Amino acid sequence: MSDSRYEGGWPLSARAGATDPDVEVGATRLRRLRRTAGLRALVREARLAVEDLILPLFVTDGESVSEEVPSMPGVFRESVDVVGERAATAVAAGVRAVVLFGIPAVKDSVGSGSYDPEGAVQRALRALRERFPDLVLIADTCLCEYTDHGHCGVLDSRADVDHDTTLDILARVAVSQADSGADLVAPSGMIDRQVGAVRAALDRAGHQRVGIMAYSAKYASAFYGPFRDAAQGAPAFGDRRGHQMDPANSGEALREARQDLDEGADLIMVKPALAYLDVVRKVRDAFEGVPLVVYNVSGEYAMVKAAAASGWLSERSVVLEALTGMKRAGADLIITYHALDVARWLREEK
Ligand SMILES: [Zn+2]
Repeated sequence: MSDSRYEGGWPLSARAGATDPDVEVGATRLRRLRRTAGLRALVREARLAVEDLILPLFVTDGESVSEEVPSMPGVFRESVDVVGERAATAVAAGVRAVVLFGIPAVKDSVGSGSYDPEGAVQRALRALRERFPDLVLIADTCLCEYTDHGHCGVLDSRADVDHDTTLDILARVAVSQADSGADLVAPSGMIDRQVGAVRAALDRAGHQRVGIMAYSAKYASAFYGPFRDAAQGAPAFGDRRGHQMDPANSGEALREARQDLDEGADLIMVKPALAYLDVVRKVRDAFEGVPLVVYNVSGEYAMVKAAAASGWLSERSVVLEALTGMKRAGADLIITYHALDVARWLREEK
């Protein structure tokens, strides 16, 4: 009976000092506030809201294209016209922001499709900007979907990412995205000084009002597997451990975030989310007041989907619990493939 007799606070022997011998002085019973749904809602600390969600969209060339990603049921590669319909659904559900990833038909060694004004992402940005003036448009700013080798930058003669050439190209990409109507550009390649290079290029091009969502602490994670399926961006050789963060490090995440903020980042990010919630908390505590984003990545999504499809867990309960955990850890915003479902579930719970 220990659960009902004593739950912290003073020991029961403290009743000796009470005027009424039947009243337990200071007998804290934390269960009192868990008794009803109303009480639980009243004292809830972390709250998940539809405004917290950012929906990723994969944009490709063509028309009426909608291909489901095999490892990510419910996620599609879509042409600009179809992306417009999905964005309409998102807006109707209360989602305020989308992040666009491009899947070009043609790739080359320097990823030149990434800054093509007629590229799928640029066309999608223009179409969405016109149709949804209030929707926050975020563009992924990286080369890995556009290079034929699948790396996040241009390679040098040793097949290593050539830093300075890559920064020049990323700057062009960001400006083309800003030209097309992006509110935020999101350099995601963990190339040193990419935020500063993009900031300078945006300012030079007259895009002082366009912000930067920095992938500050992006880990070299195996949880990205299904995304590479979606974006067809797996490295043809080698991996990204030479520039993404070592999963064993968390102090380094603070250095990355600090550097990005010094270079002009407006939002910072920890990616992936679930296996890195301690990093989220650390970054939150170190940079109070800076909008903190987490990316609930493709592998996290695929695990839940696969288990739910087998009837091994409840998708809705697990997703709401995981996303609430991200908020509790200190995230302000969550990029998630579950966004449309979550928006519906939150509405149903009201
Ligand atoms: Zn990349």
